[in-house]
Amino acid sequence: MANTTAELEALLTQRSLTDAQLLAAVEASADFRILPDATVLKIGGQSVIDRGRAAVYPLVDEIVAARKNHKLLIGTGAGTRARHLYSIAAGLGLPAGVLTQLGASVAGQNAVMLGQLLAQYGISAVDGAGLSAVPLYLAEVNGVIFSGMPPYGLWTRPAAEGVIPPYRTDAGCFLVAEQFGCKAMIFVKDEDGLYTANPKTSKGATLIPKISVAEMKAKGLQDSILEFRMLDLLESARHVRQVQVVNGLVPGNLTRALAGEHVGTIITAS
Ligand code: ADP
Ligand code: MG
Repeated sequence: MANTTAELEALLTQRSLTDAQLLAAVEASADFRILPDATVLKIGGQSVIDRGRAAVYPLVDEIVAARKNHKLLIGTGAGTRARHLYSIAAGLGLPAGVLTQLGASVAGQNAVMLGQLLAQYGISAVDGAGLSAVPLYLAEVNGVIFSGMPPYGLWTRPAAEGVIPPYRTDAGCFLVAEQFGCKAMIFVKDEDGLYTANPKTSKGATLIPKISVAEMKAKGLQDSILEFRMLDLLESARHVRQVQVVNGLVPGNLTRALAGEHVGTIITAS
């Protein structure tokens, strides 16, 4: 480590908090991984939970089996009900911060439902981004459920255009993985991974097994299977330098991804 605490403190009390030398000194400390053995899963809202029982029950079975060997932080997406709310609220002229609160309430509903399905296995849904009891839940039952929407609420930073919240549940789940220094981030959705074009509307689209953020942007795929903003978060991440997108509608895929198999698409930071 290049700096002592005293040197850091001197800089921090004297300089602007965005001073270049101060930032370099802060950067010199090694990062600490808070939950290095945990994996964050995002269960898609529109892509998975909105499909109801047929999609969700088999995933619940896989999660229950997987948590014997894995520590799982399970975030929920929002989906179609949030899109319905966004359309009403945007039509009413309401701002991005309000739409963020509305979207968060739907991701929260999905966390509540998933929590009830996993209750008999001792897995609880927790509230709030502090997630203060998460280590205890993981230590005791190897799993916990949270709402994937980041808690920016009214203070969300609006996008350059429009009032749709730019940081939604893909970003929220990724940030949890990154902040906790988790070992992996898996997005569970309804397609086999990233394709050369949206497979729902382009028949000839082919699967891309592995790609970097820069390559995705070069191919014009930045606004596709993951939220646009997610890619910048991944690119500048310290711990979680790749994410995996798997098709949760195919039984066994999640289990294989957790075992380290290359199913779906791996998107790398660099
Ligand atoms: P979530 O339920 O997690 O919010 P989304 O529905 O937002 O997931 O994202 C998954 C969807 O992204 C897929 O169902 C697919 O229709 C769409 N999509 C758009 N472009 C692509 C692409 N190039 N490859 C794969 N999926 C794509
Ligand atoms: Mg989405």
